Amino acid sequence: MIKCFFYILIAVIGTTSFSQSKKEDIQLIKAKQLVSTLSTDQKIAQTCQVTLDALLKTDEKGTVLLPIQIDEKKLNLLIEKQVIGSVLNVSSNTLDRETWNTILSQIHAPFREGKTKTPVIYGVDAIHGANYVVGGTLFPQEIGLAATWNPMLANKMGEITAYETRASGVPWNFSPVLDLGRQPLWSRFFETLGEDPILASEMGAELVRGYQGTNPAESTRVAACMKHFVGYSLPRSGRDRTPAWIPERQMKELYLPSFKAAVDAGALTVMINSGDVNGIPGHINKKLITKTLKENWGFKGFAVSDWEDIRMLHTVHKVASNQKEAIIMAINAGLDMSMVPYNGPHEEYLKLFKEAIDEKTISMKRLDDAVTRIIYVKLKLGLYEKQFEPWQSFTKFASTEFKNAAKNTASESITLLKNDNNTLPITKNEKILLVGEAANNLVFQNGAWTHTWQGVDTSFNTQGALNFHEALKNKLGSNLTFVQGYDLSLNDGWESCGLLDKDQLLAASRNADKIIVCLGEMPGTEKPGDVQSLNLCKEQQNLVKMLQETGKPVVLVLLFGKPHIIREIEPKSAAILHAYLPGDYGSEALTEILLGEVNPSGKLPFTYPRYDGVIEHYDYVNSETKTNKTDGLPINPQWAFGHGLSYTNFSYSDLLIKQLEREKHISYEATITVKNTGDKTGKEVVQWYITDDFASVAPANKKLKGFEKIDLAPGESKKVIFKFTTKDLRFVGEENKWVVEPGTFRVSCGDQSASFELK
Ligand code: BGC
Repeated sequence: MIKCFFYILIAVIGTTSFSQSKKEDIQLIKAKQLVSTLSTDQKIAQTCQVTLDALLKTDEKGTVLLPIQIDEKKLNLLIEKQVIGSVLNVSSNTLDRETWNTILSQIHAPFREGKTKTPVIYGVDAIHGANYVVGGTLFPQEIGLAATWNPMLANKMGEITAYETRASGVPWNFSPVLDLGRQPLWSRFFETLGEDPILASEMGAELVRGYQGTNPAESTRVAACMKHFVGYSLPRSGRDRTPAWIPERQMKELYLPSFKAAVDAGALTVMINSGDVNGIPGHINKKLITKTLKENWGFKGFAVSDWEDIRMLHTVHKVASNQKEAIIMAINAGLDMSMVPYNGPHEEYLKLFKEAIDEKTISMKRLDDAVTRIIYVKLKLGLYEKQFEPWQSFTKFASTEFKNAAKNTASESITLLKNDNNTLPITKNEKILLVGEAANNLVFQNGAWTHTWQGVDTSFNTQGALNFHEALKNKLGSNLTFVQGYDLSLNDGWESCGLLDKDQLLAASRNADKIIVCLGEMPGTEKPGDVQSLNLCKEQQNLVKMLQETGKPVVLVLLFGKPHIIREIEPKSAAILHAYLPGDYGSEALTEILLGEVNPSGKLPFTYPRYDGVIEHYDYVNSETKTNKTDGLPINPQWAFGHGLSYTNFSYSDLLIKQLEREKHISYEATITVKNTGDKTGKEVVQWYITDDFASVAPANKKLKGFEKIDLAPGESKKVIFKFTTKDLRFVGEENKWVVEPGTFRVSCGDQSASFELK
């Protein structure tokens, strides 16, 4: 029945408008046609998104009954009668694929059976793999992914996450996070791709390509959702969803590019920033949503709100004096779908939206545009033709191939920050004491968005995945002793550390050749993940100091989603490995690196701070280097952006720049020779930076303009080429417009640099 209607529609489109709008996507035309068949109520309902709980059976108090079951009455009302456009989320924890398929099948039934004209689009947060599907392959969190500096790994992660998400029946993923990580206090720092716009753009765009492929309607692809447009990641207070102040120049140079790159990569949806920037809540920022994103960048997909954010325009931000005004402000700013998301408030949303249409405070044109965008994405995903393949047909789900891809991503992310006297790698003959609760439970290597929202509950840990202690035990057997040393918990919502039995620890250290201390943090995200300081808790620091006094080499392994200050324990640590939040297979990767079976190649995607109160970025301006204090260098982070050692050495030579033919922009080619001068095969990230020596707006110390990860055998050298144009020399000038100014520029790569002049 539905299909028949659809074919007629195509025929109509074929004869009327196809030839006039050659460039316009056929699905956009189809979407417009479909919208014209909907009533105003149905159109409004398409803009409404409810959470799964709104459709589940509950007890009299409203508590969801377990195991979860769809409440037929609610389904009939919301999906069949009202034709709500979208459902999101998992109820409280990971579901198995069979349960997911049952739920999705029930939600799609009204459309499948021809009772409604429009299918539901279901969305979920598959943030680092299919983290809400039992057995889903868990990758490193985005901050670790960024540390690989390998966009192809982002593509692979996206592809596998899409496959496993679709195996549950869900076609829409609320990922990637494209917010820049420049405020390490922010609880969602680990969800970012680091501090640099080029790194975040390249990695983010590949995640999008991995999710969507070339045809998102394929049964193994999902629609991506760019989050959170834009400026969410720079809360001045550090606390989640608190105000950011971002001048237009920085917005253009830093915060917008990763979103633009994702739009260019074809991202189908976007989620709006819950916070406010320069006093304007993200959800009413017409300039950004409508002008920049939709008009200037040509984004054709739809913009969904974040959780309850229209309501919050009234209740939290206080920019709307009532709920109706909030709806009007957000929809007129360009928002297309509201994550309402509860049952009850959704009725109010539908009613008030209708009143706004009747009163013409929201135009039918705007509503049609919003619904066209939503239906366009549904068409792109093939939701009108097929719902989903049954979970049994996804035979590669949780396969060894997928686990190896996750492990490989973790391997390339792990960053060797320090390695005095070649302390690492260790050998299997050495007696190792491993210390730290973080080594002993998967939750500490996964972080939030793992089986549950906050990722704290250990009862859903993936069967068969190894924590760090188990992975190292497998390799070292009786040469490994484990002592927990400290514990981590939540006390009143805040992280709390405890130092355990000191005597046991010291006794165990006596037999050890080397001591590995695994430092960690409590998982957490959004407001529950707020922290008061970047300082590593005293108990973990004291434990390290105590072990350092034994005189045995102490190796630190950091399972941190954000940089914790380790200034006091760094100098006496013989080696330090940063593993970020490497996911379920990260411990195996870590173990292989510790034993030298894999050569580390991760590089920091952010500037690692030395002090809690001094947050620096690699692209600082010269005035930041002026100091009369005596604590060393003026810009003095613990480790620089892009830093990361290897078990081999690389040398850089022969940097040359030549100007190529004048095309639209003057273009240049820089070349450099990189040689592996050590005795182990290794990967090196060749990082290209450009410095504008003098400019009318204080120029950055340097800006990353390109990078490439290469493999080199011992003794091997490679000539690496970097092409750039005057576009790469631009900055946002005094008038807040992109400009290029003549003058001298410096290209730097490794320890080499060369200047050229733009006349
Ligand atoms: C988060 C989003 C997430 C959404 C749906 C919000 O609270 O900010 O990142 O996609 O919930 O779960």
